[in-house]
Order: sequence, then structure tokens, then C-alpha cells
Amino acid sequence: MLRRRVSFHTLGCKLNFSESSTLARQFAEGGFERVAPTAEADICVINSCSVTEHADKKCRNLIRRLHRRNPEAIIAVTGCYAQLKPQEIAAIDGVDIVLSNNDKGDLYRRVVELGAKGRQIVTSCTTEELTRFFAAFSGGDRTRAFLKVQDGCDYCCSYCTIHYARGASRNLPIAEAVAEARRIAEAGQREIVITGVNTGDFGRTTGERFIDLLRALDAVEGIERYRISSIEPNLLTDEIIDFCASSTKFQHHFHIPLQSGSDRILGLMRRRYTTARFADRIAAVRRRMPDAFIGIDVIVGFPGETEADFRTTYDFLTGIAPAFLHIFPFSERPGTPAVDLPGKVQASVASERVKRLEALCDRLHGDFCRRTEGTESAVLFESTMRGGMMFGFTGNYIRVKAPYERAFINRICRVRLGAMDGMHDLAGEIVRDNGETERL
Ligand code: SF4
Repeated sequence: MLRRRVSFHTLGCKLNFSESSTLARQFAEGGFERVAPTAEADICVINSCSVTEHADKKCRNLIRRLHRRNPEAIIAVTGCYAQLKPQEIAAIDGVDIVLSNNDKGDLYRRVVELGAKGRQIVTSCTTEELTRFFAAFSGGDRTRAFLKVQDGCDYCCSYCTIHYARGASRNLPIAEAVAEARRIAEAGQREIVITGVNTGDFGRTTGERFIDLLRALDAVEGIERYRISSIEPNLLTDEIIDFCASSTKFQHHFHIPLQSGSDRILGLMRRRYTTARFADRIAAVRRRMPDAFIGIDVIVGFPGETEADFRTTYDFLTGIAPAFLHIFPFSERPGTPAVDLPGKVQASVASERVKRLEALCDRLHGDFCRRTEGTESAVLFESTMRGGMMFGFTGNYIRVKAPYERAFINRICRVRLGAMDGMHDLAGEIVRDNGETERL
């Protein structure tokens, strides 16, 4: 008899979070009890990431920890690491099921069928199957839902294995995305993050356009906010920027991968833009939305990156002044062209560069948040409570913190923004209907 407590452990990107939410829903509908990741469980589901060697290692450690804590539990591993190195995962003690990304949606059925300890290693994955399977996912389990509208990538950045792990670019038809957004609205969630591997590349399957998806979603009643999880700079068109600026639902929040501020390194990375084009896109966003939160991905220590290249990146980012930097030390992925590039950067040099960018990020993020101190903003408070505090985000993605009060959860409230409280939060005061503020 299969026992019923299931825990979920999601590593990596918002896409994985979206898919884990869908899996959790399947288990809930089947009568399983979802327990916290730290609780004892009968089934442990791990949705893995393989963006770096560190991500693989983190997954292996997690599996070992879960097995030690739950020696009798069924351990099922899926996601990008499972897709790329299934045998490596299958060899770890305690693992019962390894499913490729393709088979991810079948995980619930396979766990139920397994029913008792056994071995079932499934690794097959074809593009056709990936396409067929795709539409099964979307989800979310909080105030904010993740709606997966696109999967896979047709680009071939020289450091990336995602196009092997996730297959060719494909999309959910707009009509299905809208139906899913309506379902999310009916479930009471107010905000949707539109996710994908290469989200802006939407339309490969159906020939539809990303901008038309945005327009269709904008019309869904009950959803008050949308965010685009990430968009490549070469796909961020004026049309998309203008639409986001004029919509009352699309938030002034953009996550745009740069990866390097050196055109020479961008060429080696096989990225599809120059720094001039990138700067032009940021300027276009700022012209229409001066208050926009702009988050930027950067890879540090790519083969051939000299101190001068790094300095160019540093200066470029200082000039752009984004609100946040997501910094990744370069990680060599077997089978990618970057492996054969000369000029490997020593780990100690890469980690020193990471630290310099982290310090820059702290300064830029603080500057961005402090500019809003004393202003009013709409904040959607989420249900998570930590240390008696509730947290929510402004439209332009500043995290606001206030003492927990249930009446304000999952509601968009008018909030006067106070001073920085720690490195990442602003203290907030709710503005009451009579215009008075109240420290919560
Ligand atoms: S755009 Fe480049 S880095 Fe991003 S998933 Fe596609 S190949 Fe990988």
C-alpha cells in the first residue's frame, strides 16, 4: 500500500517551479498530502537543474540527504539533470525513478504504479514526444502563479546545454494559455509570471506572436498582474515595450540576459546581439518606463575573459545601472563548444570577479530601492510569513515588508514605502481608504 505524504524539491528556474506546481496538483488530486521539504515523507520528488556543475552537485547532495532522512521513501528525480545524466543519478543510493523532462508529466502515474520500492529508469526523449507532452504544464501554488507558455530553445549559445535538455523551441497555443490563465484566476491567484526557456521565442509551434499572447492574456478577467520571467534582448521589440508600458496589468519589470559586457566575449558565447544593441533595448525600456526594475544575467570567467574584458563588463553594467544582477561563475558543461575554447579562467580569479559584481549589485539595488522611499506604490502581499512579517512586491519588483496581517494577504494594497530594512526590503505602511497611513 503506497503511503501518501509527498514532498517536492525544486532546483533551478521558474520553469521548474511552474512544472513542480503542476505535479503537486496532480498528487493533491490523487489524495496525497503535500508536506514541507524538511518533513518526513513517503515520496520525494526532485525537479533538477543542470545549468552548472554546481547545480548537478547540489542535486546529488539533496538526494543523499533525503535518502538519509527518509530511507524507505520513493525518490523520483526529473528535470534537466535527469535528462542529461540519468545514469549518474540512477547510481545514487535510494533513487527509484529517474524521468527525463519529456516524461515529467508522467511522474505521478509512474510513482503510483511503482507502489513499492523498485527501480524504473526512464531516459527516452525525442523532440516529437517533448512537443506532445508540453501542453500539460502550468501552475502555481501561491499568490503568484507561473504559467509556462514556451519550452526548449533553438539557439546554440556555446556554453549552454539547455537546448539538449529541453529540446527544440515550442509553444502552447494562445487559446490554451488563455484558458490556463482563466483557471488560475478562478483559483484566486492574482499575478501570473509568464515563463519559458526562451520565452520571447514563443510561436515556433503555432506561428503565433508573443505580442499577441500578451494582448490575449491582458484581457483575462481576474488576473491583476503579469510579469515576463525573462526575455532575450534581441527579442525585446519596441512593440512589446510599448505594450507593457501602456498595459495596466503588465508590470514594469524586465529580466534580460546580458552575459558579458564585452562584444568579443559575446561573440565567443555565440549570443545574438552586441552590447550596443543591448544598451539600446535598455534605453527603450527606460524611455517608456523610467521606474522599471531591470534585472540582468551575467556570466563571469568565460574562457578567454581577460581582466580588461571583465573591466569592460563592469563598466558597462555600471553605466546601465540595472536594479539587480544575477551573477553566474562560468561552469564548463561537457559536450558544449565552450569546453574547447582556450584561455580558461582560474577558479580563484572567477570567484574574485563574482565578488566584485556582487558588491556592484548591492550598491545598484540599494540605489534603485532608495529612489522610491517616501513614494506610494501598489503592493501584492503574499501568504508566506517569516518572523511575524509578511512580504509583497511592488509592480516594479521591490520587496516590501510589514508585520503579518491576514486581511492583507493576496490583496493589492496601496503602500507608502519607507526606508530600507536590510539589504533587500523596504518597510511599508498601508495607506487606508481615508488616505491615512498605518504602520502595520
Ligand atoms: S538562449 Fe542560449 S543560453 Fe538561453 S537556453 Fe537558449 S541556448 Fe541556452
